[in-house]
Amino acid sequence: MGNKTFPGGIHPPDSKNYSKNSSIENLPLPKKVIIPLSQHIGALSKPIVKVGDNVKTGQQIAEAGGFVSIPMHASITGKITKIAKYPHPTGTMQQAIEITGNGEDVWIELVDEKDYFNLSATEMKKRILEAGLCGMGGAGFPTHVKLSPPEDKPIDTIILNGVECEPYLTADYRLMLERPEDILNGLKLIMKITGASKGIIGIESNKPDTIKLFAKLVKDTSDIKIVGLKLKYPQGAEKQLIYAAKGKKVPNKGGLPMEVGVVVQNVGTAVAVYEAVRYKKPLIERIITVTGKIVENPKNINARIGTLCTDLLDFCGGTKEEIGKVVSGGPMMGFALFTLETPISKGSSGLLLLNKKEASKDAEDTCLRCGRCVDICPMNLVPSLIANSVRYDDINSAEKYGAMDCMKCGSCAYVCPSHIKLIQWIDIAKIKISQKRSA
Ligand code: SF4
Ligand code: SF4
Repeated sequence: MGNKTFPGGIHPPDSKNYSKNSSIENLPLPKKVIIPLSQHIGALSKPIVKVGDNVKTGQQIAEAGGFVSIPMHASITGKITKIAKYPHPTGTMQQAIEITGNGEDVWIELVDEKDYFNLSATEMKKRILEAGLCGMGGAGFPTHVKLSPPEDKPIDTIILNGVECEPYLTADYRLMLERPEDILNGLKLIMKITGASKGIIGIESNKPDTIKLFAKLVKDTSDIKIVGLKLKYPQGAEKQLIYAAKGKKVPNKGGLPMEVGVVVQNVGTAVAVYEAVRYKKPLIERIITVTGKIVENPKNINARIGTLCTDLLDFCGGTKEEIGKVVSGGPMMGFALFTLETPISKGSSGLLLLNKKEASKDAEDTCLRCGRCVDICPMNLVPSLIANSVRYDDINSAEKYGAMDCMKCGSCAYVCPSHIKLIQWIDIAKIKISQKRSA
């Protein structure tokens, strides 16, 4: 069903059974939403509303703060009740706009452009920007920027990321099963915008039904192919996906996919592109998996952006035992949340609830020099050396050993028998190197 892959990587249990058979359900309209002004890479969005203003669903409430930024929109109908710092899906506090709903769902006017595919690429990109699209796989890069490569970097291939290699998460899987035509429409639009002649949808072999479904849908299309990939983590990371699906290596030291003629987009983003171009629909909702063995009824939920995690968990019937840890995203790359009163953002793919035992951490021991972290690092780094350099405050060595190339996939920490907090050490290295560079 698919055995292309990349060097390195690990095989954590996929734990997708909790939610993979749950069809997408719409969450009833939340009473309140909190729209973070930072849901993307780049400059903060700037509010264009004030406390007391009434807003319709889909109405713009914040403008892009620069070229690498996006506008934000109201995801419910109601009143702006506060603009302040709130808990954020990254586990930090960030500026956000609170909207208290009035129980109605009155939308701004949308269009239905039947001939949408014949719009110019410029008009398509304008609609994508106005709809506030950013990557929905987690990284959050503004979509209009990603679809505007410089002229000297022509794009020949668009790869849609249908891998969803993070354990537990099934939001993309359900989207692929339930809205395959919209995903394909989005892919064709992205190909048209970038001038790419080829499209690839990369899917891991643990989703044979979606591989079959898409293969059937594109059987008469010569420019789009489905590539089945070996089940391995982090198969869905951009560089690893490009290597596996196309055999091309994106250079380290800040190299971007466009350098090998590729743009990667998540399948959810493809649907958002289709809706933005055809309907001028702003990105105000997304599919999120709420899961974990302690969740009463794990689900894949279509929820408004800004919905509080506590509302999502209530919709799933709460938990069967005491919560030990709440994770925004998956267990490998997700962020620990300190409160369930945290809103979801455009990049929120999952909400994972762990019990006390699952959340407990073993104490850090000394490095055994076993080399396991080196063997599996998909970026060919030596995580133990980076960690050790930071421990002794040797930031120059940490930089030399490639700390900035680490994508924080968590594989090294996962395999380390001494439970060394490699990601935390590498995180510190990244912060200190950035400080040094900007000093
Ligand atoms: S060093 Fe970074 S890229 Fe390599 S395995 Fe660890 S987290 Fe992943
Ligand atoms: S896996 Fe852990 S113990 Fe082994 S070399 Fe890496 S840091 Fe050291």
